[in-house]
Amino acid sequence: MCVYNRLTALILCAALLLVLPSCIKGNEPFIFTSVGMGTVISLKLYGGDENNAAEICALIDEIERASSLTIEDSALCGLNKTGQTDNLHLIRQAEVCVDVAESSGGAFDCTLGAVSGLWNFGHEDCRVPAEDEIAAAMKYAGYEKLALNDGVLTCGEDQTVDFGAVGKGYACDVIKEYLDASGIQNAVISVGGSLLFYGEKNAGWTVGIKDPFGSGKNIFTFILRQGFVSTSGSYERCFENDGILYHHILSPDSGYPARTGLVSVTVAAESGALSDALSTACFVLGEEKGKELLERYSASGVFIREDGTVNVYGDI
Ligand code: ADP
Ligand code: MG
Repeated sequence: MCVYNRLTALILCAALLLVLPSCIKGNEPFIFTSVGMGTVISLKLYGGDENNAAEICALIDEIERASSLTIEDSALCGLNKTGQTDNLHLIRQAEVCVDVAESSGGAFDCTLGAVSGLWNFGHEDCRVPAEDEIAAAMKYAGYEKLALNDGVLTCGEDQTVDFGAVGKGYACDVIKEYLDASGIQNAVISVGGSLLFYGEKNAGWTVGIKDPFGSGKNIFTFILRQGFVSTSGSYERCFENDGILYHHILSPDSGYPARTGLVSVTVAAESGALSDALSTACFVLGEEKGKELLERYSASGVFIREDGTVNVYGDI
């Protein structure tokens, strides 16, 4: 959940105004940083102010309260307990998930929650589960069991639906809707690895991809007119055991981390949820099939291989 409520956000904004020389009026953006959806949120609003930042944070909070697997009374936990929900945030995420699941031949599957729960990536007690545990949890997976009828989303019995692979991109979609109505001309929004570049600048936006090998620099940059960009990488939420790296992007065939020779995939697409889902799907599919998937959606991608090779596909 967004750990800062509206009041705290305003206080923090005031503090940032004091310490950040870039928070001045004029052409400089209003900059705000917070924490939500288990990651860092950063907002650069050209023409916006602390009220806009607080309203955007409230939206992120609302999405997290709907989509979290760790907030016990979230709408997602409700879906996983009762098998149904009419929550609009979940329905919109499920639509993208099922679409990308079908077009990726099941490489993308938002019903792997029981398996992900065993690995528990990103938590102190993450571990390599026993093979029979993984096999047992895999029995609950299968996006085909999701259905949407008359505004009600249903899942299979005992399934654990997990929107971790689309949630941050989806949050960027909702923030774009907010910006459309706000009068703000330009903005850069980052919700963890999902970004929204809002509004057209003359020279376009320079998008930098972080070096997955940890140099602290960008490994690749490109210019984007506007739109959504998401990155999925094996260097996020991972751990090492007996010299083997285990990361959080799972192969739906095995329930083990997907190993396709890639360390990260960055995708630019027409919506945030789509860019987020496609980056995860491409990571699981590998470069050849991933490239074909991007073509189906007229999306673009940057694939970084384990040997450091950077390959670009599409219109960037
Ligand atoms: P991040 O959450 O760091 O942005 P991704 O967007 O790639 O990274 O999403 C990875 C998350 O999605 C995992 O932590 C897990 O919750 C879920 N997940 C893992 N494997 C898959 C998969 N094959 N298809 C869909 N979701 C997945
Ligand atoms: Mg993703």
